Amino acid sequence: MDYQRFFSEAIDQLHAERRYRVFADLERIVGSFPRAIWRSGGQAREITVWCSNDYLGMGQHPEVIAAMQKAAGRMGSGAGGTRNISGTNHPLVELEAELADLHGKEAALVFTSGFISNEASISTIGRLLPNALILSDELNHASMIEGVRRSGAEKKIFRHNDLNHLEDLLKAAGRERAKLIVFESVYSMDGDIAPIEGIADLAERYNAMTYIDEVHAVGMYGARGGGITEREGLAHRMDVIEGTLAKAFGVIGGYIAGSAAIIDAVRSYAPGFIFTTALPPAIAAAASASIRHLKVSSVERERHQRQAQRTKDVLKAAGLPVMPSETHIVPLLVGDPELCKQASDRLLEKHGIYIQPINYPTVPRGTERLRITPTPFHTDELIDVLKDALLETWEALGIPYDETAQAPAARSERIIPLVVEKSGG
Ligand SMILES: *Cc1c(COP(=O)(O)O)cnc(C)c1O
Repeated sequence: MDYQRFFSEAIDQLHAERRYRVFADLERIVGSFPRAIWRSGGQAREITVWCSNDYLGMGQHPEVIAAMQKAAGRMGSGAGGTRNISGTNHPLVELEAELADLHGKEAALVFTSGFISNEASISTIGRLLPNALILSDELNHASMIEGVRRSGAEKKIFRHNDLNHLEDLLKAAGRERAKLIVFESVYSMDGDIAPIEGIADLAERYNAMTYIDEVHAVGMYGARGGGITEREGLAHRMDVIEGTLAKAFGVIGGYIAGSAAIIDAVRSYAPGFIFTTALPPAIAAAASASIRHLKVSSVERERHQRQAQRTKDVLKAAGLPVMPSETHIVPLLVGDPELCKQASDRLLEKHGIYIQPINYPTVPRGTERLRITPTPFHTDELIDVLKDALLETWEALGIPYDETAQAPAARSERIIPLVVEKSGG
């Protein structure tokens, strides 16, 4: 076995399919969000970021930075161990109380990332339940798919947001069998929202558990930032609400919130929780500061929605193929991986605008897109600059305009990249 050649060829395959990924070397600038310094070819240049998941700019909020600095100054940089051995720091205990309160649940449990929270929680719940059947939305995030896979439980994929299909599967399984429905509130590539109430009704009728990923909604929706389930008054009907501290809250880490019994079971049985060092106290303190701020302040949420709507309106009016989205996410259909990459490169090099191309396997082939995420800090002026840059790019590369842009419906569960699959063992 020629190992080096094997890995080179694995990479060559990505190049051949035009989906080899290159990262932009960025340095964000506190106080000038969404501006950043981009380093390339030995040069440094200021650019505008239009694809950050720091949706509300909380990553540089003065209260969040101050909390992080203060805790690091008092308690140091690291946690000092796993939670079981020596890593349960007081700021982490406070953070979990803050999160349980945010979702109106008895308890919450924090993980090192949202990815790990999904992978560890879904796999543990699915493994603990006897002869469980997991019902998973076909567009679920890779972290949920990994959790389902590692649970060892039987799984059935239901068509995206399709209540009839979900009901057929629940009915076939019968009321007595243990069933877990896993889905997201906001699907982040299309910006659509799940029929949460309908899913809760079905779960009740067929005696199933519900697990909702609110990663793209926490901090941004609901009167206190509790997500779509808060906005729609449905949090109490979900068994587990999962979220991240890394997107709208602007820090890092993931969590689940639910009943004391479920949270304690995951805490006690999940290897992805037990055998890894806890989040540092400074991170926990910063996350708590961000959550506390967004519980009482709605100006960020309101301005976020306004600027997202304005971005959609301005781009649509210019004839750009804005895909339908019910949320703050603004996907622009390109429909070809090579063009998508070229558009992204041109925007950055010629216009100083950074929008990462979104290609397969993150989205189905043929629906390659630019995923634009306006924040409260993207001013009306920046939106106009973006529109002009996009029009120039569309013209120069001959990308189709389409006023009724609609991606072909995806019909299969998103595929996890080769590398992740292999490491799954
Ligand atoms: C980003 C994301 C995650 C993972 O969260 P991290 O905190 O970034 O690890 C989980 N679910 C969805 C839907 C996501 O988009």
